[in-house]
Amino acid sequence: MSDCLFCRIVAGELPAKVLYQDDDVMAFHDINPQAPLHALIIPRKHIATLAELPEEDTALAGKLFQVAKKLAAEQGYAESGYRVIMNCGKHGGQVVYHIHLHLLAGKQLHGL
Ligand code: 5GP
Ligand code: ZN
Repeated sequence: MSDCLFCRIVAGELPAKVLYQDDDVMAFHDINPQAPLHALIIPRKHIATLAELPEEDTALAGKLFQVAKKLAAEQGYAESGYRVIMNCGKHGGQVVYHIHLHLLAGKQLHGL
């Protein structure tokens, strides 16, 4: 059994409120939402941090953004706008070491 939380969600060992999935990518609601829509978009493949993203996974990383865009549009946020974030490492505030995009929408966000 993986000790990575998101690998366990991918494997179906832990529950998640899934918004989207295909062969490469999963998206699900964040357990502690910071906005009316707070989704996490992850590759099924384990990649710990952006710093460890292999060159050959460039298209996979791009696909995370495509899924973020589609989800935001599906949920009705294409016009109002939204924020997409990836944290990397300790000073980046990363807590779960399996890369993920945060998609935040549904309220006015400020600052960074
Ligand atoms: P990070 O700080 O690593 O960029 O973000 C990790 C995110 O994962 C946090 O927003 C946190 O609320 C979320 N999270 C942590 N544990 C779980 C979980 O078990 N399920 C889900 N759906 N989200 C989680
Ligand atoms: Zn993982």
